[in-house]
Amino acid sequence: MKLFDVYPVNNIIIEKALGSHVWDEKGTQYLDLYGGHAVISIGHTHPHYVKRLTDQLHKVGFYSNSVKMPLQEQLATLLGKVSGKEDYQLFLCNSGAEANENALKLASFYNGKKKIIAFKKAFHGRTSLAVAVTDNPKIVAPVNETDNVVFLPWEDEAALEQAFQQYEVSSVIIEGIQGVGGINVASESFLRKIRTLCDTHNAVFIADSVQCGYGRSGKFYSHDFAGVNADIYTMAKGMGNGFPIGAIIIAPKIQPVYGMLGTTFGGNHLACAAALAVLEVIQEEKLIENAASVGAYLMEQLRTFDKVKEVRGRGLMIGIDLPDELAHVKKELLFKHKIFTGEAKPNVIRLLPSLALTKAHADEFLDAFSKELNK
Ligand code: PMP
Repeated sequence: MKLFDVYPVNNIIIEKALGSHVWDEKGTQYLDLYGGHAVISIGHTHPHYVKRLTDQLHKVGFYSNSVKMPLQEQLATLLGKVSGKEDYQLFLCNSGAEANENALKLASFYNGKKKIIAFKKAFHGRTSLAVAVTDNPKIVAPVNETDNVVFLPWEDEAALEQAFQQYEVSSVIIEGIQGVGGINVASESFLRKIRTLCDTHNAVFIADSVQCGYGRSGKFYSHDFAGVNADIYTMAKGMGNGFPIGAIIIAPKIQPVYGMLGTTFGGNHLACAAALAVLEVIQEEKLIENAASVGAYLMEQLRTFDKVKEVRGRGLMIGIDLPDELAHVKKELLFKHKIFTGEAKPNVIRLLPSLALTKAHADEFLDAFSKELNK
């Protein structure tokens, strides 16, 4: 059987990884500023993470959700503490798409309404409802099309108000910082407007934190910058540092009832061990504070380059918007300077490194970037 080419690949085989570095099969070292697409939160193969996962695997790797799961309870307690949302309820699943799928469904169970407001350039995943609220017609199959979704322009308060007048809105789903869409930071005033309108119209505010959450922005959830609470936060990626796990946390006013949510693998022993290890390291090594300070330094330095069109982001979620003539820089960074970065269309370099990135790593990148820019 031949493998289906889902993504374009660059022929590099990663054989070893540690902290913010990876090595190919020839032993060449790369600085990883992509973090496996925002997945590597605490750094590759962190010793505490490896130990917690292997210890757990030796004890019990999997049993079904039909038994009491102290690990899930520990995770709920620690996540509540680290994120500051102690009064929310946790539901564990396996991916970002699944988290969003369940959040949208739960919102509709809660208020009995159907219309969902999503935004231009949004990416929320590839399952049925998640893909329907994603602004990319290429990946929405006819069976997933739904006239229950209204796409609004980014940050247009008037359009938002009008949509609430026009429709019976069930939920609004928004990334605190759009990732795939090119690193677009939702303003605090726009997030507050969503909060007010959701309160007035009994709609559910869903904060997609799959990419921008888990400390990446310099706060646990990037929506926290607005000083408002969403009703449901969705997360995945950095939550497991590479072990597949997703989650939604649900505000007290929404009470799921038995049967609404469920999944075979969600919250299994290994996933919980991985997620607990991640939160322990985030706390122990003060990684959210590190993301805030190293990210601020990186952005400040990047904004001094005249040739860069714009630098957007928060913490260690950074978009460098380049003019067309510098579109090749990303490739040079990888093949010449051995630095992995991400991208977004048309010419945005996306930086999504581990939250443990140091200032020295940032300087290494800035040095390579300035050489390519000033050629
Ligand atoms: N939401 C956002 C904001 C994402 O960036 C992604 C993945 N790129 C998803 C949802 C989907 O996550 P997953 O691939 O784990 O289903």
